[in-house]
Amino acid sequence: MQGLEDLYREIILDHYKNPRNSGQLDSPPAHRAEGYNPLCGDEVTVYVDSDGEKLVDIKMSGQGCSISRSSASLMTVAVKGRTLAEAREAIRTFKNMMSIHEAAMGSETEEPAPADLRTLGELAALQGVVKFPVRIKCATLAWNTLSQVLDEIETGE
Ligand code: ZN
Repeated sequence: MQGLEDLYREIILDHYKNPRNSGQLDSPPAHRAEGYNPLCGDEVTVYVDSDGEKLVDIKMSGQGCSISRSSASLMTVAVKGRTLAEAREAIRTFKNMMSIHEAAMGSETEEPAPADLRTLGELAALQGVVKFPVRIKCATLAWNTLSQVLDEIETGE
C-alpha cells in the first residue's frame, strides 16, 4: 500500500501549498466562525455565503500545521455549492472516518469501509492522520468550525 500512502501525502501537500478557496468573504456579509486548536496552535476562520439552502460560496483563512491547512482546503472543496444538509453529511462522514480509527486505537490499524472511501474522495487522504492521535484535532478543526457556521445559518442571525 506504499503507493496509496504516497498519493495521499501528495494530496495533502498539494492542498497545503496551494490552498483552495483561501481568503475571506465580506461582501455581501458572510456567516463566519473561528476555530482554534490549542494542542497545535492551529487557527482557522471559515466564511460562508448562503441563500439559506446552499453554501453558495465558502472561503477559509488562518494558519497552522500542514494537516490543519490541507484539511481546511479539502473541506471547502467538499462542501462548496452543496446544500446545508449535504454539508452536514460531509462533516458526519469525515468525523466518522476519524472516530472509526480513534475507536480502533491500540489495536492493529483498521481500514475504513470501502463505502466511506468512495464518498470521501480526496478526503480519504487524511485518513492516515489517525495513526497520529494528537493530529486528529488538527484534521477536524476546520470541520468543527464549519459546523458552527451551519448552526449560525440555520438559527438565523
Ligand atoms: Zn495542527
